[in-house]
This record gives sequence, structure tokens and C-alpha cells, in this order.
Amino acid sequence: MSMNKQGRKTDIKQPTSDRDDAKTHSGNRALQIEEPILFDLGDTQTTGVDFAELAPFEHRLNGMERLDDFGLAGLSEPETMRHYVRLSQKNYSIDTGIYPLGSCTMKHNPRLNEKIARLPGFMDIHPLQPQSTVPGAIDLMSELAHWLMELTGMKAIALSPKAGAHGELCGMMAIKAAHEAKGSTKNVVLVPDSAHGTNPATAALIGYKIRSVPAQEDGTVTVASVKEALDDDVAAIMLTNPNTGGVFEREIVEIAKLIHEAGAYFYCDGANFTAIAGKVKPGDLGVDAMHFNLHKTFSTPHGGGGPGSGPVVLSKRLAPFAPLPFLAKEGESIRLVENASDHAGEASPFGRMTAFHGQFGMYTRALTYMMSHGSDGLKQASEDAVLNANYLRASLSDYMSLAFGEDHICMHEVLFDDAFLKDTDVTTLDFAKAMIDEGFHPMTVYFPLIVHGAMLVEPTESESKASLDQFIEVMIALAKRAKQGDAEPFLNAPRFTPRRRLDETGAARKPILRWSPDDETLT
Ligand SMILES: *Cc1c(COP(=O)(O)O)cnc(C)c1O
Repeated sequence: MSMNKQGRKTDIKQPTSDRDDAKTHSGNRALQIEEPILFDLGDTQTTGVDFAELAPFEHRLNGMERLDDFGLAGLSEPETMRHYVRLSQKNYSIDTGIYPLGSCTMKHNPRLNEKIARLPGFMDIHPLQPQSTVPGAIDLMSELAHWLMELTGMKAIALSPKAGAHGELCGMMAIKAAHEAKGSTKNVVLVPDSAHGTNPATAALIGYKIRSVPAQEDGTVTVASVKEALDDDVAAIMLTNPNTGGVFEREIVEIAKLIHEAGAYFYCDGANFTAIAGKVKPGDLGVDAMHFNLHKTFSTPHGGGGPGSGPVVLSKRLAPFAPLPFLAKEGESIRLVENASDHAGEASPFGRMTAFHGQFGMYTRALTYMMSHGSDGLKQASEDAVLNANYLRASLSDYMSLAFGEDHICMHEVLFDDAFLKDTDVTTLDFAKAMIDEGFHPMTVYFPLIVHGAMLVEPTESESKASLDQFIEVMIALAKRAKQGDAEPFLNAPRFTPRRRLDETGAARKPILRWSPDDETLT
């Protein structure tokens, strides 16, 4: 017998143990249904669909027609439907609960965005349609471009890059083209050691040597350390602001000045723009190129949910090198210029980043987000994102260890290290896995690399105080449990997921991406 909330006795029996090794006959756990891969589910020799016998016909493929099996699993529509729906239910998403991955800005994807993106005039158009038939789509791109340039105080834009990293590549290619146009052979790019891995990877991909700039204790970069690393070979610096530790780069204006005096360019990684949108214009800080992640700052879906989109804004100095296609004003109308030769103005595009025009479906969503918030709303979203992160910081500072000390306020994300887990046998990874058992997606762990056992938490402005309080309560309970020496539940976590600790390194190094009939069943 137990008591319900009204104090009445009920007949509901409480489980007598929470044994996590309880096995069921079916392998399912309650309504979480075990799901094999499609090919183990269906026989490739049969079909789940009844087709009428084909009437005799003559092949017109001149002997090229396929004679053997397709090898597809023969499943009926309901079987196929269940397979994919069950898989989708194993997915955790921003629509399921808080998703506090630092540096990823997993904010709510408003349904209004989806509604607008599905309007036939936006959804049913084709990139090969003549421009004269899609003036509304071009207007939308132009409006988005206007907002992005206005928010950053920058002079030109390339909308086409398809993710943040692709935007970095675009911005750095514009910088390289600008150097080449001057006959400069500068070949070094400065990158702080707190940077996201895509920064050095991007610069290396187009042939630059990377020179690391050490970050201060609080993750920021100083004028002194940039000066130390600067010489005639430096073509550019890549800085993130706020940086990957959630701290605003206080010396950024002087750093930009120094970089420009050395004949180099300033690339800003804008992945953290959600902290400063409507508050700071990167153009005013001396930035020459900056990408946005529309899928972070401007609420378009990401992760498994949708393609990224990484437009890049450029300063006046880099504007001529913007890639094709670009928008140009001609009289009263706006045209998407596909070839530099049929453009009257001055332009030396370095090439193209993509086929067609980029992620148009994300442009519609991002612009809907911007217009539904308005410029004051975007500013408030940034303020709320910062407020939420600081609420977590202040609420957890007595229980977890802040990477940069107690008296540092943060921007949109708060960074902890693993000092609070010292002598507990629990690692950052164990702690993150235990959060899964509690129904929370873990924060970003072990990034940035400059902080030991880093845990980077970004709540975003989407979370209510109630949801933050629930998160805080669980984090405090877990931290207390670890400190009390109760390491066992951490080491065995996650206990309640369909799979437990997977060989993530093995999966990354030796992925099995194709099924063949001889494969053993994947487990
Ligand atoms: C997310 C992120 C990137 C890369 O963006 P993608 O859209 O994932 O390619 C680069 N830098 C920082 C700081 C990021 O958080």
C-alpha cells in the first residue's frame, strides 16, 4: 500500500527493487521496443507489397536492365512505418527536453518558422527556375541578407555556405583571395588554443600553417599574446567571441587594430552570436569576416533535424572577393548574380561554395524568427540567454567547480571543470552518462580543451525558470552523490537506455556503414 497525493491509500504496488539488469522475455523494456536493423527485420526474398503480375513488355534498355534482386527488405507499409517511428522514438531532441550542449545553441525551433517555410511559394520552387518566376524568393534572400548585415554592421554577405564550418571556409577563402590579389604570400593563421577544432582545420585545408596563441586562465586572448605571435607571415587571426568558454574577449578591439596594422585580416567565428545579437556589432569591433550558424542563433533545426546554414558577412575590404552567387541591386529590383562577367559592378569572386544558392529552406525559417522577434526581441533573446546561463552558474557554483572561478560572470554558456569530482572515482564522462539516466541530455564535455574535464552548459533563452530549476536540482543531487563516495551508479550509467556504454572510438574509427547478407547481426 502507498499513499497518493490526497493521502488516500492506493493499491498500487511499488517496485521492490530497482534492479537494472531486469531482463524481459521479449528484450523490450516496457514500451521501449527493441529494434533490429531493417534488413534483419525483413526478408530480402519477399515483398510486403502485392503487385499484379506484369503484362509482357519489351525491354528498352538494350541488355542493361537489372536482373538480380534489389536486396531491399521486403516489408509492408505498417512494418516499415513502425521501424522508422521506433527509431525516431530513440532519438532525443529539443522537442523532448532541455538540450544543454554548450557551443551548439540548441534553442527551440518555433512552429511559425515551419509554417512559413511550407508556404507553396517557398516550398514548391526549384533552384533551376528562371529568376523572373521567383522574385519573392529573391526578395526573401535580400531581406535576410539585410538583417544579417544590419545586425553585424558589415558590408557584404555570402548566403550560400551550408554550415558554420563551411562558412569559415568561405570567409578564409575570401581572405586568401584578398592576399593573393595584393601579391602577398603570407601563410600563417593565428588560432587560440581554446578554439573550436573547425578553425585550425579550415585554415589548414586551404594551405595555411597554424600558429597557436595561448589563452589566458579565463580562456581569453590578450593583446600581449597576439603581439608575441604576430610577424610578417601572419595572414589572419581566427577568434571566437564570446569565446568557447563563454567569456567576452575584452581586448578584441585592440587585437583587431594590431592585426590590421600587420596587413592581416580578422576572422570571427560567430557560432556564439546568440550571446550578443542586437547588443554588439562585430563590424564595430574590427571584424573582416564572420559566419553565422542560422541553425544555432536563428533557431533553424539542427542535429538530426535539418541541414545547417552558415552565411558569412564580409567587411568592405573583403566584399569584392565574395563568392558567387551574390545579390546585386539593379534599379528597383534585386538580381542573383551567377556569373561575374554579367555584373556591371566591381567584383572578383573567388569562386562558388555550393551548387545553387544554399539552404533556402533555412533562410525562410531564420528570417521568420528574426521578423517575429523584431530587433528588440532579438536583443531580449540574447539577454535572456545570458541571464539563463548566469542563473545556472550562480545556482551550481557551490556544488560544481567553475572553470574560471567564482567571480566571473559568463555570457550565454557556463563552463565547469572536474575539480569538484576530485578523489571521487567519477569522471566528467561518468557524470554526463548519469545525467542520461535522469532524463537529461548531457552538456558538452571535454571541450574546450584548455579546461580539465570541461563541462560546457548552454541553456539558451528557450528554457523556462521551472525547467532550469529542475535541471539544477538534478545536477546538485548528482554532484552530492559523487562527493559522498557513491560512485557505482555513475560507473554503470546509463542504466536505463536501450544501449549502455558504446564503443564510441570504435564506431568513429571503424564504422560499419553497409549491411551485407553475410554480416552478423549488429548488436
Ligand atoms: C558549432 C560551431 C562551429 C561549427 O559549426 P557547424 O555549423 O557545426 O559546422 C564552429 N565554431 C564553434 C565555436 C561552434 O560552436
